[in-house]
Amino acid sequence: PIDPETLRRWDKEHLWHPFTAQADWAAGEPLIIDRAEGAELIDTRGRRYLDGVSSLWCNVHGHRHPTIDAAIREQLDKVAHTTMLGLSHPTAIELARKLVELAPPGLTRVFYSDDGATAVEVSLKMAYQYWRQKADPEPERSMFVALGGAYHGDTIGDVSLGGVDRFHAMFRPLLFPVLRAPIPFCYRCPLGLERTSCLTACLDEVEHLLRAHPGQVAGVVIEPIVQGAAGMVTHPAGYLEGLRRLTRKHGTLLIADEVAVGFGRTGRMFACEHEGVSPDFLCLAKGITGGYLPLAATMTTEEVYSAFFATAAQGKTFQHGHTYGGNPLGAAAALATLRVFEEERTLERIGPLADRLALHLGRFSSLRHVGEVRQRGLMAGIELVLDRGSKAEFPSHQQVGNRVCRMARELGVLIRPLGDVLVVMPPLSLTGSQLDRMMDVMLRCVVEVTERN
Ligand code: PLP
Repeated sequence: PIDPETLRRWDKEHLWHPFTAQADWAAGEPLIIDRAEGAELIDTRGRRYLDGVSSLWCNVHGHRHPTIDAAIREQLDKVAHTTMLGLSHPTAIELARKLVELAPPGLTRVFYSDDGATAVEVSLKMAYQYWRQKADPEPERSMFVALGGAYHGDTIGDVSLGGVDRFHAMFRPLLFPVLRAPIPFCYRCPLGLERTSCLTACLDEVEHLLRAHPGQVAGVVIEPIVQGAAGMVTHPAGYLEGLRRLTRKHGTLLIADEVAVGFGRTGRMFACEHEGVSPDFLCLAKGITGGYLPLAATMTTEEVYSAFFATAAQGKTFQHGHTYGGNPLGAAAALATLRVFEEERTLERIGPLADRLALHLGRFSSLRHVGEVRQRGLMAGIELVLDRGSKAEFPSHQQVGNRVCRMARELGVLIRPLGDVLVVMPPLSLTGSQLDRMMDVMLRCVVEVTERN
């Protein structure tokens, strides 16, 4: 094997890491993960780290799960790759059937792609084409409503929806315009309101947009219940259900991006279940394969599908698809991931673990530089602030969130910040004592960095 020092050097000489300031990377010490076991990652020097962010929010049942490993091996012995273009295969078919069984009612059609960004991109193109093909005379429904702070992926379509400046400001000339609704973020209410009355006002703003653009909105796009990249922003109860009501009332589609919140993360299999909502599109990726292989799915209704049901000559085909969409290895990993949910009763385990996490988060709430802690299930954010009273943020050059995470890494816990919001998204298979250790280390690091420096 190549020695760790050479690997470090080659990494710096040849790699370009995503979402990463290259000069900072070059100046830092790359952590090179060689192996993993359960909720632990092991680097090339044999050091172990608790994985507090499930790789990239996707490793649901831990690493090297025997059931998922075996399913992938078994599939390898049959066929690693075929295509969904003109062909099909058993694992993709079985997975589609399973997803339909698990998803909110009415979502009966599954379109495969490869990752979260493409799952959402598919929903945008499908929604647009749906309205084109459904209506006569043809209206121009080419607009989407998206929320402040939204993150739906990094393709140009998804970046257009995006509401996080650092990801989309640079590309503005390339983006299509969207109708921006205020983020339902009570701690920092964009409407300047207090928690008690904000819910109605937020929804009123969406309704205002829909009224102002009659027959023009193809869909309203939302990360249901928790907006991840915005800073683990937990929506007020009733917001999602309210959006469903509004989209029905104004005759447009609801697109639920469950790329981050799907597959048990918030305590239910899908976040939409918290408010009994069936969206018109459900976008799934990340945890779908337990974080093993790239695969994504966009689910939709018979109503949408029927607008595409036509012969080639009728010209209604959805002209979209990728080489690896619905690939057999990914589908096998996904089927096994869903089987583990059943065999290990994962959803039942989350409640007590989430309660335990809530107790730990309570300890953070009283710290001088913690503005708010936000949690749904095993998805939480700890927002660090300079001043609790005014909610003033730390100057960005202080890199407080980054420093906390760097220190935690020295102590064997891997977490990643979103600015000064610390993300807590461990594998759902984490043990109670692993959770305790992770949160103890995080607490120590937050105190050390924010109060003692
Ligand atoms: N949608 C949401 C809500 C996400 O959090 C992400 C990634 O973090 C994406 C879409 C994009 O997923 P991917 O990175 O797999 O393209």
